[in-house]
Amino acid sequence: METTSVDVLVIGGGSTGAAAVYDLARRGVRALLVEQGDLTTGTSGRYHGLLHSGGRYVISDFDTAVECITENTILRRIAPFAIEDTGGMFVATSQDPADFPAKWAAACAKAGIAAEKLTPQQARAAEPALTHDIVAAYRVPDGSCDSWNLNEGFVTAARTFGGDAWIYQRVTGLLREGDAVVGAELVDTRTGEQRRVRAACVLNAAGPWAGVVAGLVGLDVVIRLDRGSMVAMNVRWVNTVINRLRPPSDGDILVPVGTICALGTTSIRTEDPADTRVDVWEISKLLEEADPVVPGIRLGRALRAWAGVRPLYEPPAALAQAETGHDVSRRFAVIDHAERDGLRGFVTVVGGKLTTCRMMAEHAVDAVCRQLGVTAPCTTADEPLPVPEASPRHYHQLSGRVDRLEHGALPGALICECEVVTRPQLEAHIASYGDQPVALDDLRRDLRLGMGPCQAGFCGVRAAGILHATRQTAPDNATRALGAFVDERFKGVRPLLYGHQLRQFALDELIYRRVLGLDALLDLDQPQPEDVRDVTE
Ligand SMILES: Cc1cc2nc3c(=O)[nH]c(=O)nc-3n(C[C@H](O)[C@H](O)[C@H](O)COP(=O)(O)OP(=O)(O)OC[C@H]3O[C@@H](n4cnc5c(N)ncnc54)[C@H](O)[C@@H]3O)c2cc1C
Repeated sequence: METTSVDVLVIGGGSTGAAAVYDLARRGVRALLVEQGDLTTGTSGRYHGLLHSGGRYVISDFDTAVECITENTILRRIAPFAIEDTGGMFVATSQDPADFPAKWAAACAKAGIAAEKLTPQQARAAEPALTHDIVAAYRVPDGSCDSWNLNEGFVTAARTFGGDAWIYQRVTGLLREGDAVVGAELVDTRTGEQRRVRAACVLNAAGPWAGVVAGLVGLDVVIRLDRGSMVAMNVRWVNTVINRLRPPSDGDILVPVGTICALGTTSIRTEDPADTRVDVWEISKLLEEADPVVPGIRLGRALRAWAGVRPLYEPPAALAQAETGHDVSRRFAVIDHAERDGLRGFVTVVGGKLTTCRMMAEHAVDAVCRQLGVTAPCTTADEPLPVPEASPRHYHQLSGRVDRLEHGALPGALICECEVVTRPQLEAHIASYGDQPVALDDLRRDLRLGMGPCQAGFCGVRAAGILHATRQTAPDNATRALGAFVDERFKGVRPLLYGHQLRQFALDELIYRRVLGLDALLDLDQPQPEDVRDVTE
């Protein structure tokens, strides 16, 4: 079995692991990150997209609010390419607790969050879709953050300092010698190939799977897993992040992200780190909660729903008292297992927010460095990350593509009409993977292929054909890959079958099941009446 040696092995290619491998590399430590899927395919790729100002937590979780505003400022400085400065608003209607806005504004002042009071007229002038029923409104420095871009930025920068990241490598065992962890066993999740990495220290940044990874050496890390769902509306109903000015609860935030507007979230306890199902009632709840602040949104066109699992952490006694995930702190924890369990060479970092990933990494890497005797300080807040343009993965804004298309700068047949992906773009992108495996899902994440209103109804089969022809895959494999890709796309649409998206889904199903005969490959049952939202009331 092939063995590689590094100083530190980071497990998990979410925002925490990506920030950590960058931090380690900047301190001159030879670090390798391993991720079981692609980068950002855990919770970090399934989140709401909000660069928190901290306003949401300022009453319920003051320390987290302070961490958020501190890191919000730093991330804007070091990763501007991943952040859209949408600004944010907190808006109270007559349905919300009347004494909350004054308490909230005082707490923001204490936390150092700039909250500028707006008149209802000023709020509506900035965001005309807002309700007329505004009793209080404040402007805050929220933003929207593209986590794929951010993580790509961290990893690209880590590589320039000598770090590295391997994707599709799952840690299946931790190597232990006496009272120390000395590395890990990996399996390539695409080829099944096994290898070993020896390391002086292993950093467990596996998010919701952190308990599973700690369990590989018999340690107990109790995490509260909390599933939350979100729904993407087909247009930006608002251009500013809109938060309901009330204690945190379900469905109180609208985030403009790229061309869409994401409503979220719910909070449901789960035992499974991979539990990304979305129930129909959650969609109804999210739309109903958003409607009082943005009237009419309830009947707007929703494109897709998705869910992620929050890895919440508090000492076990506090966790036992929390009734819902909203009651559990968003602070993070660094567990030095040498101190807690007498096992050297192993550190776990868990909890927190995507907004605070750099700070989480800093504290976790401090603990790792203490174990290694490295004294170099953290410098990740000092310099901007290089824009990850040199990477084979570069992300696009739809408006930029439409502009290029209109001016003849995007020649060739359109493969994905919704997200404007052309055949030459697709072929060049497949070629950029060299001899590495490339899946339709990689192309989706890289180019946004299949992420628009038709959810791969038209482009899925075309892209599969091009990929198959370029890579000369066996026809059966290509067909199976297409079935799996379409299945996954359909999963995100099924919980929101109403209006236009119901019609779209019916058409997509006819294309794939009847015209292309993929019936046997599609995993999904026919939609049941209870899957269809009743919006007639
Ligand atoms: C519904 C929802 C909405 C949210 N909204 C926001 C928001 O708007 N703003 C915000 O700041 N935060 C938000 N958060 C919180 C934020 O998304 C998370 O705190 C953050 O993404 C966690 O990152 P992570 O790197 O710790 O975990 P992850 O992103 O889950 O990364 C862990 C990685 O480890 C990998 N892994 C696991 N086991 C192994 C193994 N054995 N071998 C190799 N790899 C492994 C996984 O595949 C995964 O990619 C939200 C969370 C949820 C669930």
